[in-house]
Amino acid sequence: MACFNVRLGRFTESVIRRMTRVADECGAINLSQGFPDFDPPLELRQALAEVALRGPHQYAVTWGASAFREALAKKQSRFMGIPIDPDSHIVVTCGSTEAMLAAMMTVCNTGDGVIVFSPFYENYGADAILSGAEPIYVPLRPPYFEFDRKELKRAFDRKPKAMVLCNPSNPSGKVFTKEELEYIAGLANDSGAFIITDEVYEHIVYPPNRHTYMASLPDMFDRTLSVGSLSKTYSITGWRLGYIIAASPIIAEARKIHDFVTVGAAAPLQEAAVTALSLPDSYYGELLEGYRERRDFFLRHLDRAGLKYYVPQGAYYVLVDISDFRWKDDVGFCERMAREVGVAAVPGSSFFHEPVNHLIRLHFAKSIETLKEAGERLAFLREKM
Ligand code: GLN
Repeated sequence: MACFNVRLGRFTESVIRRMTRVADECGAINLSQGFPDFDPPLELRQALAEVALRGPHQYAVTWGASAFREALAKKQSRFMGIPIDPDSHIVVTCGSTEAMLAAMMTVCNTGDGVIVFSPFYENYGADAILSGAEPIYVPLRPPYFEFDRKELKRAFDRKPKAMVLCNPSNPSGKVFTKEELEYIAGLANDSGAFIITDEVYEHIVYPPNRHTYMASLPDMFDRTLSVGSLSKTYSITGWRLGYIIAASPIIAEARKIHDFVTVGAAAPLQEAAVTALSLPDSYYGELLEGYRERRDFFLRHLDRAGLKYYVPQGAYYVLVDISDFRWKDDVGFCERMAREVGVAAVPGSSFFHEPVNHLIRLHFAKSIETLKEAGERLAFLREKM
């Protein structure tokens, strides 16, 4: 029997992505893996068609094509409220998935601790293990997914190397308040830890909640690795365009990892995406309005189906409580639900460090027609499960 890397024995393939395969197999509406079923902006698709004819079709600069970095720096400086230098503060990656792993590998040595709030997006556990680090889980408690300040302080007392902060949060939909972020920043400053943010849902924050960028808080730019992506903001999850924004000494190291792992993100897609990054502010208002409408529409269907859930403050996921179905196993529940009800969800246990199996995650990044059909199917959930 071949002897593989022992780290690989500590996690499985992604449950989120497995549920997409289950959905495809049984023809269920896929509300598991979070991606839209509607098109990216027309201007962006047109730009892609032009690039197909005009090029470039060869490698871009490994840390990102200069036109892309310039457009990204301009856009993020505007939203984050801090000056971002396209030449020294950015590395463009193959999605935020690569960015997160590269960020962890940039700061962690074997045995370092990395604080992760639970529930968490499932990649973080695997990323920490692959970088040789040990996750230190701190619970976020429903209904508002708040953390206990003393508990978080105790985690920082263990001198972690970094903390991962997904804001707005997947899967809970929590949006961290400025006060919460200031408290976390204080702990990071006192202990010398880096903060690695995942802010891919930065533009999907439902009022009155507001997004605060960790890197924009006083003294935090130098210790924050801001991970972002174009996937959710421009509905192009398949383009795999992400990035890390951080201070120059951090980016200089992160570039090395990126260079040797992937060489670079797809050059033609970076070129076309300059059009997206240059869209006016009104685009982001419309994006949010579209998601607010989908959220409210979908939650009304959950109400009609008599389901209990936690109202998301941001992002496009909702955790639904399935306790009254009295199933022991949320994985089995989701598989049966996909086959019998025709709607695919992600079992909540894949997001929790604690033994939680009474929640499932549904997403609403779908057209109103798709959500209507899913809602009608979910009305039979109680009957069929
Ligand atoms: N972020 C999305 C989710 O949580 C998609 C994840 C992925 O497969 N890259 O479903």
